[in-house]
Amino acid sequence: MELIKTEIANISEGVKRITGFVRYDDGYIDEYWYEYPANFEISNTGNPWLVALLPMASTINEDLVISLPVDQRLVDGANNIQRFWSDWKMGTNIIKIKADNIAKVNKTLPDNSASFFSSGVDAFFTAYNKPRAKYKILIHGFDLSISKSEEFQMHSERISRVVKELGQDIVIVRTNIRQTRWEKTRWQAISHGAALASIGLLFENYFAEIFIPSSVSTYYQVGCWGSHPVTDPLFSTSRTSFIDDGDGLNRLDKVKFLANYDIALKNLHVCIRGKDGTGQDEVNCSHCEKCYRTMIALDLAGCLDKCVLFDKEKYNYSEIPNIYINDVGENPEYEPMAKEALRQNNHELAAAIYKAIRRSKLLIKLKPLEKMPLLWRIPYNMQENSIY
Ligand SMILES: [Zn+2]
Repeated sequence: MELIKTEIANISEGVKRITGFVRYDDGYIDEYWYEYPANFEISNTGNPWLVALLPMASTINEDLVISLPVDQRLVDGANNIQRFWSDWKMGTNIIKIKADNIAKVNKTLPDNSASFFSSGVDAFFTAYNKPRAKYKILIHGFDLSISKSEEFQMHSERISRVVKELGQDIVIVRTNIRQTRWEKTRWQAISHGAALASIGLLFENYFAEIFIPSSVSTYYQVGCWGSHPVTDPLFSTSRTSFIDDGDGLNRLDKVKFLANYDIALKNLHVCIRGKDGTGQDEVNCSHCEKCYRTMIALDLAGCLDKCVLFDKEKYNYSEIPNIYINDVGENPEYEPMAKEALRQNNHELAAAIYKAIRRSKLLIKLKPLEKMPLLWRIPYNMQENSIY
C-alpha cells in the first residue's frame, strides 16, 4: 500500500482538512482525512501517515510505501512495534517500510506540550498530573462515530468549556479513519495507539511532548493493547515524544486523586455506550460496566454526589453482583475497590463486589457450555442479567 499524495482544503470557517490518498495493492484508493483548526500549520511530513498506516499495512500484509520525508527514529520505532505485535500473535505481519526519504533533523524542539483529552478518568488525571500540557487534543471519530455530529457538538462544547476553565487550549480533530478499510485493524489490541499518535504527529511542529492518558492499571498484566507502555513511546520522532501518563495506577487511585478537583468531578464522562446503548454520546448511561466501575470508585472516594453527569438513581449495591468483569483472573480494578470498601467498614459494598468477582469467574468457566446442546442455556441465562 502506498500514500500517493496529501491535499489540504478549507472545510468551513476555521476548519481545514488534510486528506491522504492511499492506494492498496489491489488498486483501490481510500481517502483518509483529518479535520483540524485552521490556525495550525499542519505537518507536511510522512510521519503522521507512517504511524496511521502501519497497523493497516501490517494487518493486510502489504509493504508500506511513503515518499514524503520521514523521521529515522520513527522508522526504527515502527519496525520494533511490528515485532512487538508479531510476538503477541495478533494476526499481523512484519512488512517492509519503504520510506527512503529520511528527513534532516531540526535540532530545535517545538515549544509546547499537549495531552489527549476526552473528559474521562484517565484524561482528567493527566490534565491535573501534567499541567504543563497546555493543549488538550479532543478527537471525534474514535469511540464516537463521525455520523453522530449532534452528540459530538454537545460533547465538544462541554469539553471546550472545561478546558477553558482549566486555563488551557483545546484542539479539536475529526477523522474518518475508522470509516475506511483501516477499520479491519484490531482497534483495541493493535491500532488505537497508532491512531492517537498519527493525530499527535499532525501537530509535530508545535509539540515536543504529547502525553497519552494511560488505562494500564498494572504493568505486569498489560498484554497486547493498542496503546501500550512499550509501543506508545516508539511512535516518537526526533522532535516529538509520546509519553504515557498514569501507568500503574488503577481507577480507584486516580479517582481519589481527582476527588480534589471539582471541575473534573462535575464533568466526568466515561461511558462509551451512550443513552441508546449504540455508542458514546454526551451522557453517562450509568448502567454499563465502565460506568458502574467508575461510580463504585467515586463512591469509595466520597465524591459520587459531585459527579452530575452520572445518574445516581441507577447506582444500587444490589446491581453490583451482576457486573461482568472481563479480566477477572488478575483483576487490578475490582479487588482493590473491595479491599477499600472493607477498610471503610462498608461491608455491604465489599460483599457486592466480591460477589461480582466470584460470579464473573464462574461465568468464564461456564463459557464453553455455550456450544453444547441444552447446556448452553446456563451461561446464556446468567449473561442475560449481567452488566457489561
Ligand atoms: Zn455507561
